[in-house]
Amino acid sequence: MIDDFDLNIIVEPLQDWFAGHKRILPWRENPRPYDVWISEIMLQQTRVEAVKPYFERFIQELGDVKALAECEEDRYLKLWEGLGYYNRVRNLNAAAKQIMEDYGGIVPDEYEKLLTLKGIGHYTAGAICSIAYGKAVPAVDGNVLRVMTRLTADDSDIMKQSVKNHFEEKISQLMVEQEKAGILVPSQFNQALMELGALICTPNGKPHCMECPWKEFCRGRQEGRIEELPVKSKAKQRKIEEKTVLVIRDGDKVAIHKRPKKGLLAGLYELPNVCGFKNQEEVLSYVKELGCQPLRIKPLTDAKHIFSHVEWHMKGYVIFVEPMEPQKEKEEQELLFVEAYDAKERYAIPTAFLAYAEYMNLEIGAEAVKNGRKEKL
Ligand code: SF4
Repeated sequence: MIDDFDLNIIVEPLQDWFAGHKRILPWRENPRPYDVWISEIMLQQTRVEAVKPYFERFIQELGDVKALAECEEDRYLKLWEGLGYYNRVRNLNAAAKQIMEDYGGIVPDEYEKLLTLKGIGHYTAGAICSIAYGKAVPAVDGNVLRVMTRLTADDSDIMKQSVKNHFEEKISQLMVEQEKAGILVPSQFNQALMELGALICTPNGKPHCMECPWKEFCRGRQEGRIEELPVKSKAKQRKIEEKTVLVIRDGDKVAIHKRPKKGLLAGLYELPNVCGFKNQEEVLSYVKELGCQPLRIKPLTDAKHIFSHVEWHMKGYVIFVEPMEPQKEKEEQELLFVEAYDAKERYAIPTAFLAYAEYMNLEIGAEAVKNGRKEKL
């Protein structure tokens, strides 16, 4: 249990190990509060390697709070395209506006103030305070909880808020005391804990205990209980939603649709789709309802996309249609026909549609021109 473990012994070996093993990461070179904030939000639910190019592109284009606050939705969604969990970037934009209004464009250095900003929780507030401002504040997430429960052989359920709070309290006490003693450096300590979780005390498979700076006193290891830790109560089962996804082609143009402002993938562009698995006839009559005249239909492969609480199981079709009249397109609010070659460039289309986005390219357009229009349905 963490309560009967002397945490004071973990600080020096951990910081020494970090000094010799830390990875070079773009957000570590110049830990401006803005960079720490952006990188920590990107790193939620996303691997470091995947985040690197996104971070660099984001910072290059939106280099400070002001630029982020003034950025149009379509642009920041585009910069986030592929990272998923798009509410993260919406919240970044909203928080940037709050920072402009309330703090003159400077990311606050106080934990409580940071918590009032949209999308910033305890972990991110702790990371900004400690890494960017050098304050002795913990940053406890699932990785840190895994490492700490193994170290202390604590089998409390880490899905419980009370358990998270308790660990956070314990680490906070340790940080304050050891900083006062001149041993702990907040920015290094928190980053070292995160790095240990990412490189050594890893979540899947066996951790690399022989390379761990705590191997001599890790209680989970001594008691042979690593595999049963951390204890996590089962998350709710994901809901399964069936969908039929349509790639509607008008020559070199493809139909996309803007999702509603609220809910899953809000404000992003999507390929038109309907609930449930539809057969070819049902799809053709739906396409006609949308105001298109279908010429030819072809089934595509099935696909699946997993969100945190829901799974989409998808069937797809490509449908070639007669050229749309320009005013018809305007009248038809449901669909937007855009040039296929720059659809992926200009519009943020979530990765959930990745399996079908490849059918938006020009070759299919050429095929449609060559074959599709010969065959009227
Ligand atoms: S010794 Fe092994 S189980 Fe213990 S903290 Fe280190 S890597 Fe994790």
